Amino acid sequence: MAVKTNIIKGDTVLVRRGKEKGKRGTVKAVNALSGTATVEGINVVKRHTKQGTKAGNMASAQTGGIIEKESPLPLSALQYVCEKCKAPTRLRRTRTADGDLHRVCARCGEPARESAKGA
Ligand SMILES: [Zn+2]
Repeated sequence: MAVKTNIIKGDTVLVRRGKEKGKRGTVKAVNALSGTATVEGINVVKRHTKQGTKAGNMASAQTGGIIEKESPLPLSALQYVCEKCKAPTRLRRTRTADGDLHRVCARCGEPARESAKGA
């Protein structure tokens, strides 16, 4: 079952739980099906890759060594950070007269960027 979230790729989020608690980063990808998101520079894990193995990922094309990659975090551990008030906030969904849904900051009312732009 897909998880409902207001967080989209490109958003700034605050990590609320776990070892990276308190850090902020930009969402690189959202996986609604698994209810997770990867956040740039957050929850980075080092993976050792072996030379010559065909693990089926891009890393195997490299000559081996250590690669660093963000691990997905549960969306429930992430909170949207408003670009205007720079504070962790909730998002409201508002419907315009045209029937379009827009995300707005529940704190200051600033419209959030939409997924169509640069995502
Ligand atoms: Zn705001």
